[in-house]
This record gives sequence, structure tokens and C-alpha cells, in this order.
Amino acid sequence: MTDTIFAPATAPGRAAIGIVRVSGPGAGRACEALSGAPPPPPRRAGLRLLRDPRSGEPLDRALLLWFTAPASYTGEDLLEIHHHGGIAVLSGLLDALSALPGLRPAEPGEFSRRAFWNGRFDLTAAEGIADLIEARTRAQARAALSQAEGALARACAGWREALLEAAALLEAEIDFGAEEGDVPEDLAGRVAAMMVPVRAAILEELERAACGERLRAGVTVAVIGPPNVGKSSLVNLLARREVAIVTPLAGTTRDVLEVDLELGGLPVTLLDTAGLREAGDVIEAEGIRRARARAEAADLRLHLVDPETAAAAHEALRPCLFVYNKSDLAPPPPLPEPSLAISCRSGAGIEALLGWLEARARELVAGAGEALFNRSRHRAALREAADGLGRALDGLERGDPALPAEDLRLALRAIGRITGEVGVEEVLDRIFARFCIGK
Ligand code: GDP
Repeated sequence: MTDTIFAPATAPGRAAIGIVRVSGPGAGRACEALSGAPPPPPRRAGLRLLRDPRSGEPLDRALLLWFTAPASYTGEDLLEIHHHGGIAVLSGLLDALSALPGLRPAEPGEFSRRAFWNGRFDLTAAEGIADLIEARTRAQARAALSQAEGALARACAGWREALLEAAALLEAEIDFGAEEGDVPEDLAGRVAAMMVPVRAAILEELERAACGERLRAGVTVAVIGPPNVGKSSLVNLLARREVAIVTPLAGTTRDVLEVDLELGGLPVTLLDTAGLREAGDVIEAEGIRRARARAEAADLRLHLVDPETAAAAHEALRPCLFVYNKSDLAPPPPLPEPSLAISCRSGAGIEALLGWLEARARELVAGAGEALFNRSRHRAALREAADGLGRALDGLERGDPALPAEDLRLALRAIGRITGEVGVEEVLDRIFARFCIGK
């Protein structure tokens, strides 16, 4: 028989109210033991004097809320004790509860784990509840709430639905196609047409998940270009504080220097790279290697040039914007688009540059506040599903349904893992429901 568990649901310390939750088959008995009466009617508050059942000592006058299985957070009988939020009151209550037979303190997350096992919500919703508790910004809280309310689970359910249809068609072809003779001839095309939009939606979600990652970790902007064009000067100027040492000697910024800023409310990390040029020594060579790697991986790259270097402005790295610096010294020559002219010395063009950066950052974190497949396990499963669907589509083109069916099953399992309900049996259920085989 299941244990009955209890734990404070509110943060410890002095407060007007604290809540202790008791969940499991013994919750009703616990109520009787403490209050001397059965629980109040479900979902109706009852004010009771609670006593320690061993000594009869009064513990608190508390508000009791009673939820009967399965209509409770955990799906079990659940008692909520709203007590006065003092440390002594709480410890007296917990002490009395632990003395009751069949009751024990809950382990971390155990209420939610029970809720999951009792089908109250799927894994993504459970993760959403955890994220909601952890959320620091309102955008994060909005996204987490949407996830807790089942946004990701609904997306997964939609994909599963479509893929199960496709799988049912394919499985029927494999198992019964020869005898039945009523499997549509354009089966491969129909199945592919079911899979293509699902795969596209999954890939889109993976892209959106990357946006979510950027919202958390910041949009990275690498400032690149030859030595002495003013990279450090620009980073300093944007950060409005002296972080990098600005010096007229080439090759002094040996490593990747990071500066975090907020642009229009979005987190942006500027990377000041070492002068990308031939290495003077081993340490500098390492600095350049790291700078290149970081710059390659950055979301955006600002390629700086100045009057001296503008003519040879072309580096191997993919620039996102050419920035002509030192426009106070000479007007800009024609540069590959898009480009902007600035002067770190006079400040000319800096507002335009910030505007450009903010607009790009906004594009990159589009969808902030929406539920996203933001955990690595989600992304791994989605990638697996997208890969499986890709292979299945290739296989369908080649004409043999057996391998695509297997890849489709893999994709379904991957999606099922996200929500925590993996069930290949469902595919068979579909076949029987739709084709009435085995009558
Ligand atoms: P980095 O090697 O690319 O990081 O370049 P620095 O930021 O160290 O700048 C190299 C030199 O150019 C320094 O002496 C700066 O004062 C100078 N410099 C930077 N920006 C400008 C500018 O807009 N106009 C002028 N005239 N000099 C600048």
C-alpha cells in the first residue's frame, strides 16, 4: 500500500500563513487524528483546532482544505493544513504528523512525482512547474506557466496523433497489405504528406528552443577585425565602462574578453576578440585560435575596419555587419553591405549601431515568454525524432515500407519520451480501431 506523505508546501520562517500538505490514503485519518473529526467537505475550508494526538496539546487553529482522489494535485486524497506561519507551530505539526502510523515526510518532488504517476500531468508540465518556481524574470515565469499548463504536451500530442496515423497506415501495409489488397496505392505519398509537416514543426521548435537558450544565456556578439581598428575601444564604449585595456600597440587583447550588457531589456554578451592576425608567439596563437572559435560560434559578428584596413576588409569569418571605425579620420570608402560608419572617438554612428544590434537581438530571441522545449532532454529527443522522420521520408522514397516504419516508431518513441508516455502498443490499437482487423 502507498505511504502517506507530508511536507511543508511553503518556505520556512515567520509568515502569516504556512501550508502543510498531506497526501495519500492516510490523509483523511491524519485529519481525524489531529482535529478529532473527519475532513471538511471536499474543496470547502474548515476551521479546526488541531491537537497533538499523543498529548492532546493544542498545536494551532488552522484552516483545513480537503481534496479527494483523484481530483487533487497528486491524484490522491490530499489534505492542506493552512496554519499560522511560525517555526514552532510548523515543527509541532510535523512532529505530530510523523508520529501517525503510515505517515512519513515526503522526499523532494514526491508530490509532483505522484501527480505524474497518477496521470495528473505529463513530464513537461512537471518541468514547467519546477521552472515556474525557479523563474526570475516575468518572461521566464510566463513561459514556465504556459508549459505547466500543457503547451509542450499539446504540441507533442498533436505530433504523435499525426505520426500514429502515418504509422498505422505503414504497419497495415507491412502486416496485411498483401492479403487485404485495399491499401491505397499512393500510400507512400500519403504517409510522407503526414510526416513532412510534423518534421517541419519539430525543426521549428528546435530553432525556437535555441531562441530560449539565447534569452537565458544572452545573445553573443563577437567584435572581430584586424589589430588596432578599435575593437576594444568599441566594446568599452558600448559597455560604458573600462573593461578592456585600450592601447595603440597591436596584439594586446590576447584572449576573448566578455562584456554583458542589456540592450532593450535583452541580455547581450559582447566578445572582444584578440586581433585576428598572424600569431607573434605561442600564447597569442592560442588566443587567436580561441578568438576564432568563439567568433565563429557567436550569434552575430561585427567586423571592424578602419581607414587603413578598409581596403582589405575581407576575412574568412562570416561577418554580419561591417563597421567602419575612425570615421573622424577619413570618410568611409565603399564597403560590402550591410555596413555602418562609426567613430569611437566622436561617438558618431554609435546609436545606429546599437539600434542595429537591438533589432537583431530581438529577432534572435523572438518568442520570449512562450513555452519552449528548453531542456537538453527535450532537444535531444526532438532531434532524434526529426532525424528518424528524415530517414523514414528517405526510405519511403525508395519504396520499402519496413525501414520507414521502424524509423517512424523511433520518432514516436522519442516524442513519447518527452512527455513520459512511451507506448508502441498504441500503434497496434490504431490499426485495430481503423481497419477492424481480427474481427
Ligand atoms: P583593437 O586592437 O582593435 O582592440 O583596437 P583598440 O581599441 O586598442 O584601438 C586602437 C587605437 O585606435 C587606439 O589608439 C584607439 O585610441 C584608436 N581609436 C579607436 N577608435 C578610434 C576612433 O574612432 N577614431 C580615432 N581617431 N582613433 C580611434
